[in-house]
Amino acid sequence: MKCPYCGYPDSKVVDSRPTDEGQAIRRRRECEKCGRRFTTYEKIEEIPLIVVKKDGSRQSFDRMKVMNGIIKACEKRPVPMDEIEKIVSDIEKGLSNLMLKEMDSTIIGEYVMEHLRKLDDVAYVRFASVYRQFTDAESFRHEIEKLLGDDKKKRKPEK
Ligand SMILES: [Zn+2]
Repeated sequence: MKCPYCGYPDSKVVDSRPTDEGQAIRRRRECEKCGRRFTTYEKIEEIPLIVVKKDGSRQSFDRMKVMNGIIKACEKRPVPMDEIEKIVSDIEKGLSNLMLKEMDSTIIGEYVMEHLRKLDDVAYVRFASVYRQFTDAESFRHEIEKLLGDDKKKRKPEK
C-alpha cells in the first residue's frame, strides 16, 4: 500500500479491524519511510472463482461440490466433519488468495489431495483414484507406492 504522503510503496499495518458491516477491513498503516500514518479500507471483494473443467466448460467454484467429494472419499474413515470443513475452507481461502479469475479444476483436485494425504491415507487414495481417473493399474500402483514411500519416512510401519 503506497504512502499517500511520500509515495513509498511499503507500509506496515498497525491496526486492523472490520468495519461495522463487515464488508471491508479498516487498516491503520504506517509508512516505513516517513513514518506517517494513514488509513486504508480494503473491500472484501466477492469475485466468483471460475473453475475450468477438463472439457473446457466453466462453472463457478462450488464449495459444496468440493465438500461432497471429500465426504465421499472419507466414508467410514475416522475423519471428523470438522476436519473436512477445515480442508474446504483452507482450499477456498488458498484459492481466493491466488486472486485468479479462473482456475483449472485439476488444481483444486490437487489441493484436496494434498490435504487428504496428510489426513487419511485411504481417503486420499480414494479421492485420487476418482479425481485422476486412473486409466490403468500402473498409475494407480505408482500413487500407492508414493504413499507407502512417504509412510516409511513419516512413521514406523504399523503391524
Ligand atoms: Zn511515507
